[in-house]
Amino acid sequence: SGKQRGRNDLAYYHEDLGAAVSARTALETDLRHAFERNEFEVHYQPMVSTECGRVQAVEALVRWRHPLHGLLAPDRFIAVCESTGMILDLGKLVFEAAVQQQTAWQRQGHTLKVHINLSPRQFDCPLVVSSMQSVLLAHGCDASNIGVEITESMLLGRDGLSSRVLQGISDLGISIALDDFGTGYSNLAYLQRYHIDVLKIDKSFIQSSDEERPIADLIVAMCRTLGMAVVAEGVESQAQLDWVKHRGIEQYQGYLFSKPLPANAIDALLAA
Ligand code: C2E
Ligand code: MG
Ligand code: MG
Ligand code: MG
Repeated sequence: SGKQRGRNDLAYYHEDLGAAVSARTALETDLRHAFERNEFEVHYQPMVSTECGRVQAVEALVRWRHPLHGLLAPDRFIAVCESTGMILDLGKLVFEAAVQQQTAWQRQGHTLKVHINLSPRQFDCPLVVSSMQSVLLAHGCDASNIGVEITESMLLGRDGLSSRVLQGISDLGISIALDDFGTGYSNLAYLQRYHIDVLKIDKSFIQSSDEERPIADLIVAMCRTLGMAVVAEGVESQAQLDWVKHRGIEQYQGYLFSKPLPANAIDALLAA
């Protein structure tokens, strides 16, 4: 996987710090060009109703069409964007593309909610709220058709600022999803403290063995109590989907149904 490769790269470069620094500099330069040359693409992965099997939402996932290396997954470049601050531009680009695409689907008669991932840097920037608002206005997009995904670590240890940004996004009418749940600190207190609409159970739970799944059962029960919707991530097999359905989890996402696809392939899927 990309993540594994990332780790190996790091181990490899560790032996030669000079090479690591120049590789990193080359990546940064390539990334700056990528903005100028519009090399970023947004793909969309369906989020499917476990009950009726319909695509109810999609998650926007950014890719970089590198002129030499082909289509790159986010774990090859997001971290550098984050550390250089380029993530603010990238985040804006993805948000705008996703909102535009949502309104295009809407015009075609498909009400498809679009989820967008937020990075910690964006979340630390109070201006993100007004920026989102103007993008929604410019495209005539109904905020209730947009969701943002944040991770647990983004809520940790910065109560004041993160709760204001979270509240601001929420006040626009955008729903808030907690991504990769169960992999972080799983501090249950903030599930009550913050306004969270949807909880996405990380694929590690969905893909784990039966003995490890009681934790997932607890997460689902807790969501019921707190009135949050639940999405299962990383459903790859029918057996996993059966288990997800049996838990009454309302939506799932994963390779079993579809990998992330370019927007036109989603069009075809909706037409079918
Ligand atoms: P994420 O938000 O948790 O997205 C889900 C990731 O799991 C995606 O990887 C998706 O392709 C992958 N996935 C979906 N179904 C399955 C499955 O059945 N099995 C397996 N093994 N994997 C599955 P992707 O697209 O490589 O994205 C990785 C991460 O990069 C995302 O994790 C998200 O944290 C980040 N990311 C992606 N796009 C953006 C973006 O526009 N902005 C920011 N800040 N982060 C992004
Ligand atoms: Mg996500
Ligand atoms: Mg996730
Ligand atoms: Mg993830």
